[in-house]
Amino acid sequence: MRRLVRRLIAAISVLLSLTGLPYAVYLLLAKVWNPQGSPAEKRPAEPAVSIVLPTYNEERIIENKLEDIVALDYPMDRVEVVIVDSSDDGTRETIRTFFADRETPELTLIEEDERRGLAPALNDAYAEASNEMVVKTDCDSKLAPDALREAAANLADPDVGAVTGRNVDVLGGSDVEESYRDVQATIQTLESHLDSTLIFHGPFSAFENDEIVPIDPDSIADDTELALKIRKGGKRAVFDPAIQYKEASHSEFGKRRTQKDRRAMGLIRLLLRNRDMLGGYGLYGRVVLPFNWWFMLVSPWLLAGGIALATVAGLLAGGVFGVAVPAGVGLFTLLGSRDRLGPLQPIYAVFDTQVSLLFAAIKLCRGEGSAIWDVDEELRDAYE
Ligand code: GDP
Ligand code: MN
Repeated sequence: MRRLVRRLIAAISVLLSLTGLPYAVYLLLAKVWNPQGSPAEKRPAEPAVSIVLPTYNEERIIENKLEDIVALDYPMDRVEVVIVDSSDDGTRETIRTFFADRETPELTLIEEDERRGLAPALNDAYAEASNEMVVKTDCDSKLAPDALREAAANLADPDVGAVTGRNVDVLGGSDVEESYRDVQATIQTLESHLDSTLIFHGPFSAFENDEIVPIDPDSIADDTELALKIRKGGKRAVFDPAIQYKEASHSEFGKRRTQKDRRAMGLIRLLLRNRDMLGGYGLYGRVVLPFNWWFMLVSPWLLAGGIALATVAGLLAGGVFGVAVPAGVGLFTLLGSRDRLGPLQPIYAVFDTQVSLLFAAIKLCRGEGSAIWDVDEELRDAYE
């Protein structure tokens, strides 16, 4: 019995270290090399911009979003706003009224009679976008005034075809999300300096118009997919922490799952569909993609296996050990989701992401992953 328990503990240690391995390598590299900011050769630039905004029943917040856009520090006569609206509420009305007595920016409004999902809507909007730089932004986000300028400076580098930014302030005060964003910013800076980063963020993603290609109609990782395809086309896709935005998030375990599981499904499916890119495309296919494969597809299972084995070992050891592992994981989750773990909060944040990736893989196997979802009303409180 003792021997069995010892073997189990050894197996658990191996599983858990393998789970953390890519992280350790990445964070060590980040620490030693310490890359900062965007890797692009930034130059001041003022290209004409198309801002693409998809909306589905955003009547509560659309006006504030539009105010936010026209207040950006950029000449509005060089800006065109392309909105693709699939709403059946008052969103469209508000948009029309907002632009009715305004010379600039120019409005292109694509009106869908029926909601087909975000990806097909975005494909239509990108096809209408006529300016050199295309910025996609979600309705439920706030951009820093200089966001367009910072993005334009990145795209002025001829090697760069896409750039995304950083969530500087998680609205709604979720520490879980906030600490995850810090870890993610370190990782995405490193990836960008190596070559290109994988994940692009819904609140702000900028693309060179000439590089834009259609995304899969069932995509639920639209921004990341476009960035990946631009990298496939030869240009770099980078992260610049100087491009700042705010987005709302939940901390509570249950509430986080809906959105995070869906986003995780989108990313897993994207990686699987583009598995041919592994090994090619410079350090992107040799380091960045393998790391993300490991993190998204392998390590959630190792972690789950480790916890399952630890539970078995505890049960075999008997007594209080029998409940120690489930109780420990439960307590960790409870405290973490209430932002009460202090310095351990970032570890919890990564754990939370791994949970989503595990659930996402299971949901995908069950055939879930529809491109049409319920927009989170509670998250929109922060923008009213
Ligand atoms: P999340 O941030 O990943 O949870 O996604 P959201 O639900 O916030 O949606 C992101 C953006 O896409 C928001 O601006 C939505 O209004 C918009 N959106 C979501 N679904 C659709 C859709 O079916 N059609 C259009 N045109 N926009 C959509
Ligand atoms: Mn959102």
